Amino acid sequence: MVDPFPAPMSRVLNAEVGQIFSRKYAQEGVEEYFGRTVEGVEQTADGVRVVLDGGEIIEADAALVGIGAVVNTEWLEGSGIELDNGVTCDSGLRAIGHPEIFAVGDIARWASASRNVSLRLEHWTNAVDQARVVAHNIVHPDDCEDYDTTEYVWSDQYDWKIQIVGHTGSDHWTMVGDPAQDRFAVVYGESQGQAEGAVIVNWPRALVDARRSVASRAKADELIHRLRALLEPSSTAPAKAAAR
Ligand SMILES: Cc1cc2nc3c(=O)[nH]c(=O)nc-3n(C[C@H](O)[C@H](O)[C@H](O)COP(=O)(O)OP(=O)(O)OC[C@H]3O[C@@H](n4cnc5c(N)ncnc54)[C@H](O)[C@@H]3O)c2cc1C
Repeated sequence: MVDPFPAPMSRVLNAEVGQIFSRKYAQEGVEEYFGRTVEGVEQTADGVRVVLDGGEIIEADAALVGIGAVVNTEWLEGSGIELDNGVTCDSGLRAIGHPEIFAVGDIARWASASRNVSLRLEHWTNAVDQARVVAHNIVHPDDCEDYDTTEYVWSDQYDWKIQIVGHTGSDHWTMVGDPAQDRFAVVYGESQGQAEGAVIVNWPRALVDARRSVASRAKADELIHRLRALLEPSSTAPAKAAAR
């Protein structure tokens, strides 16, 4: 795996938390080249030859390129719709200056009323939740809803189910649990401040609390305290018994 960032998912989770995933990949046998770029890919008789910065060569059967997505708005250029890496929308997902046009999903850049920033998200749950608000706003133009969301995205990597809620990546983060045990949570936010987001691995009960806490802007240290309590034997025993 080659990536110019210092660790997997470090753009979203930060470089230190990304190292946890880097160790997992290494355990699973991935040859990692983080902090490196690809200079070229050449076809060979047996597969491909990938040339890295500095001239190092990786021989492989195949190369899979996953370098992100570009929002597809060129067909809207010149239409009069305002574009800014997406269709620019108000807080109810209505295209600015065009009350009859709405945008939903990856293409929508909307003014988040609660966070006071313009956001564009690329998640399935976001597309589905936005569609519900747009349907409401079309049917009830006199009672429009703002679109507000607690971001949620998941990824299955090896035996880790990774679930990410809210806004992650800040330098203020706290680990609860142990990656070596294949179950942990990282809570983002200053301890006396708001729980901004969390990444949860293989821990459904922690996800429920983290999602609720981030949505209600609960304090980070309160969430951390409750998650630690979930690790106590008295807390986990009934859950295991119930699972059986
Ligand atoms: C490889 C990959 C993995 C992903 N994994 C996850 C994941 O694990 N979890 C998650 O939450 N999200 C994931 N996503 C993101 C998720 O797929 C998107 O957020 C979601 O599909 C967005 O839905 P959408 O309806 O906005 O856009 P899309 O699903 O992209 O649908 C847009 C549709 O519009 C069509 N279209 C484009 N231009 C035109 C045109 N001019 N006229 C007519 N039709 C047009 C396209 O062909 C497409 O069918 C992943 C995305 C990718 C690429």
